[in-house]
Amino acid sequence: MPKYIVAIDQGTTSSRALVFDQKGAMIQMEQQEFKQHFPHDGWVEHDPLEIIESQKKVLLNAVDNAGITWNDVAALGVTNQRETALGWNKITGEPCGNALVWQDQRTKKYCKELSIHQEMVGAKTGLVIDTYFSASKFRWLLDNSEKAKEWAAKDELCLGTVDAWLLWNLSDGKVFATDVTNASRTLLFNIHTLDWDDELLDLFGISRSMLPEVHASDHCFAHFMGAPIHSVMGDQQSALYGQLCWEKGQSKNTYGTGCFMLMNTGKEAHKSEHGLLTTIAWKSKNEVYYALEGSVFVAGAAIQWLRDGLELIGNASETEELAMSATSDDVYVVPAFAGLGAPWWDMETKGAVLGLTRNSDKAELVKATLESLAFQTNDVLDAMNKDCGEELTVLKVDGGACANNYLMQFQADILNVNVERPKQIESTACGVAYMAGIACDLWTSSDVQTFKGNDRYFIPSMDQEMRRKKLEGWKMAVNCIRGWKPA
Ligand code: ADP
Repeated sequence: MPKYIVAIDQGTTSSRALVFDQKGAMIQMEQQEFKQHFPHDGWVEHDPLEIIESQKKVLLNAVDNAGITWNDVAALGVTNQRETALGWNKITGEPCGNALVWQDQRTKKYCKELSIHQEMVGAKTGLVIDTYFSASKFRWLLDNSEKAKEWAAKDELCLGTVDAWLLWNLSDGKVFATDVTNASRTLLFNIHTLDWDDELLDLFGISRSMLPEVHASDHCFAHFMGAPIHSVMGDQQSALYGQLCWEKGQSKNTYGTGCFMLMNTGKEAHKSEHGLLTTIAWKSKNEVYYALEGSVFVAGAAIQWLRDGLELIGNASETEELAMSATSDDVYVVPAFAGLGAPWWDMETKGAVLGLTRNSDKAELVKATLESLAFQTNDVLDAMNKDCGEELTVLKVDGGACANNYLMQFQADILNVNVERPKQIESTACGVAYMAGIACDLWTSSDVQTFKGNDRYFIPSMDQEMRRKKLEGWKMAVNCIRGWKPA
């Protein structure tokens, strides 16, 4: 009986593959970074062939190095960087150029022109018209890639997100498909009818025949080396599933390059009045779950700025001790390096450091930068609470920066909510692994619920007056920089 599950985790900076045993323990992980291309200011690209080559290599190595064979693999799951858009030829599989990564802002002007349609687009997709999502990137490829133009004219063009590209290649060009979570990030998918939407396709000038078939997240998408690919979810949705936020009202926050908070809102698509996105959490066992999502663009990236931009630290983990040694509470860093995400969606604002005195040193700056992750998370959670009318009691966390104990304690203090850090912080890979394991009947849902142990709870302990003062300071700092618009 095959009894291992393999998760493919195709991220923004690396391709990874993880092997889970029958008890849900991760027994092997392989990872390979790939090149980020920045051809112009604001442009971010990946080479689609490098994505597939690195992904296949880590996948084969992970199974080999786990000491198992492909006959032992019960199922695979795929999770991926969302929104990144690419095109390829239906017959040859040749890409029409590099993939336009979610961070890419080259379509800013085009998105601004379309903003008059926000009401219609928002009602259908739950999103805002922004460069971040795939549709304007598909449009760019159609307008600028000679190959895309030629293939589109001959009806030989496939447009897709990274999951579709992986499925296509892992199935040797037999399967052109995506799942509802990835589709829900394109701006072309109606999250209520669960289909590509003609009005949206017209708006962006994209024809339905260029797009993949959309399936439930736990569909049997394809086979690789004889094993079924039995789940596909975008990375943040997969992390929500992997954190076992299966019930309405449960939330997780991922502290990676950016921060992504998602709250399961059950079977109802909840429209945000406070700058959050409505998205599909997953469709499994024929039921659709929705989520509210708030994204913070710069989180761990601010720690990278301390390391690479300012050279104040040698590596990210030093920030914990430095923050604890700081003596002042009055410095604020607003890392709006790429504008401000939810709940502001203000792309013009720039970053700032406020509250410096002659005594402010490296420790204060590091502490204030770490704290900015927690303040931004608090802003998103505030918006979620207002939208849902319910107060969260526990926040589940994951992602690289959640290893930082100073940050997690400060987060609990500022939110005034318990923060729960699992032992297994690879929630993204866990999500599709758990879903695939359930879909292929290796596990039941109750089995999966026994897999996760907690590493640590952070319980709020900050004095309420101090909390009020810190929150007020942050609010003033944000207002201050939002008002700063030099010519
Ligand atoms: P991504 O998946 O977005 O690449 P990860 O989840 O791997 O991100 O997290 C990496 C990010 O977390 C980096 O931006 C790094 O600066 C930050 N980070 C890693 N460890 C720590 C730490 N101990 N304290 C603070 N930040 C950290």
